[in-house]
Amino acid sequence: MVENTHITKTISLEDYGITKAKVHYQLSPEELQEETIRLGQGVESSFGALAVNTGEFTGRSPKDRFIVKDEITEDKVWWGDINIPFDPEKFDKLYKKVADYLGGREVYVRDAYACADNKYRLNIRVVNEYPWSNMFAYNMFLRPEEEELDSFKEDWLILNAPGFKANPEVDGTRQENFAILNFKKKIAIIGGTGYTGEIKKGIFSALNFVLPVYKNTLPMHCSANVGEDGDTAIFFGLSGTGKTTLSADPERRLIGDDEHGWTAENTIFNFEGGCYAKVINLSEENEPDIYHAIKPGAILENVVLNEKGEVDFANTSITQNTRVSYPISHINNIQQPSRGENPKNVFFLTADAFGVLPPISKLTPGQAAYHFISGYTAKVAGTEAGVDEPIPSFSACFGAPFMPLHPTKYAEMLSAKMKDAGVNVWLVNTGWTGGPYGVGSRMKLKYTREMISSALEGKLEDVEYETHEIFGLQMPKTCEGVPSEILNPKNTWKDKEAYDKKARELAGFFKKNFSKFEEYANDEIMNGAPIG
Ligand code: ATP
Ligand code: MN
Repeated sequence: MVENTHITKTISLEDYGITKAKVHYQLSPEELQEETIRLGQGVESSFGALAVNTGEFTGRSPKDRFIVKDEITEDKVWWGDINIPFDPEKFDKLYKKVADYLGGREVYVRDAYACADNKYRLNIRVVNEYPWSNMFAYNMFLRPEEEELDSFKEDWLILNAPGFKANPEVDGTRQENFAILNFKKKIAIIGGTGYTGEIKKGIFSALNFVLPVYKNTLPMHCSANVGEDGDTAIFFGLSGTGKTTLSADPERRLIGDDEHGWTAENTIFNFEGGCYAKVINLSEENEPDIYHAIKPGAILENVVLNEKGEVDFANTSITQNTRVSYPISHINNIQQPSRGENPKNVFFLTADAFGVLPPISKLTPGQAAYHFISGYTAKVAGTEAGVDEPIPSFSACFGAPFMPLHPTKYAEMLSAKMKDAGVNVWLVNTGWTGGPYGVGSRMKLKYTREMISSALEGKLEDVEYETHEIFGLQMPKTCEGVPSEILNPKNTWKDKEAYDKKARELAGFFKKNFSKFEEYANDEIMNGAPIG
């Protein structure tokens, strides 16, 4: 695991306008962990993994993510409240402030890259104020060989200064924190937030523009794994729906847990070199692969530890979004390099807190396009004291916050690829059964895994199906290892009328959300809409 230790190369940051910095270049994870502890910014957990608190921000801040509007982006980006424009001159001024802020400090610099296929490789230089953020970059991006460092030239530069706070009135930001992408200069600046996810999703957003526009490659917010005979499966889904959990399958080699490209040659490649798993209620029994990945080199974020450094995974007093990052090699069964061929099965994961959608259903091409553009999951938000209600959440392409182009661009590419490759598309509800949140319960992970394995092994080819009355989805009547009565969600509700009512309500949310895309959708896609 000890890569890149004893690096003798030194670099200067003067060209970036960062003067008199004390540069720690390409430190090893061990050194970065020591630095973090020395600075009092983290502790060693009983796993041997570093534990840090990311500060005020324990999640991304989508409203503070901007894209510089210039001749490159102006006509291509889908501007709005997801892709918020930023003035080029304001960017230059703010960049200078961030560079000045980093000047004279101890900073941590890492050369890394994204995209596990050389044809698409994007070199990244990250300049971090904090050593643990730099260790995160080590974990999450791909790690160049030492000999590559001499001639390393970055394609993108990231300046990451969590301690720097913008002045919204002068700087043009919404508040003190910001993440701004500049496609012309190929620079991302991130300030005022220590949440590490901004670093990885910054580069993801950059690739989501660059790959479809210049490289004829579809970028996807999905996990991926590959079976013994080389069949690749991909799992789309919004946060918390199970991409990381379900792609860690001891029977299949992991390609990656979050960001992939699908090339014109019908191959898949991971953008990243590591995983970023949720650890809320993590248990060795339910998620052994992720649990065992927590060892020296991993970074736990925002978890609560006792005096012995033991982690209480049930404690959400800092945030529900507790996380661990680790290099992909911390998972036992991985595909190296992180590439796959011949995608055979595509899963759309949703955590439906209304308890309406079937635990697994097979989609027609039209339904696949409709559900991809819809990008549905549900959130459970506390409304008033003691009342928690599910709220539908639609995010186009299962990742709208990271998609600079219009959603239909990605959807068209995906539809074409799915037809080309002749894939099966499955909608999997990893959310509620037996009633909505508060009444029913979350689908057992064991059952979801069984359903996915059956789909992957072709065992759902020859079983009988029935059609969902309201969503028009094809539901298998039997599935090995899963009680048949849960396969049709209506059966799991005591009150059938209540089920129908909820299902119609959810169908209504789908239709309302889709109305903004109708003008782009053909008949085939519109036939994929709910029927009831
Ligand atoms: P992100 O995009 O934020 O990384 P993700 O899609 O990777 O999100 P996971 O990290 O896999 O989501 O989170 C799924 C969570 O739901 C885990 O905490 C997992 O333990 C829990 N879970 C409970 N039941 C299921 C189920 N039936 N299927 C999948 N996950 C489940
Ligand atoms: Mn994940």
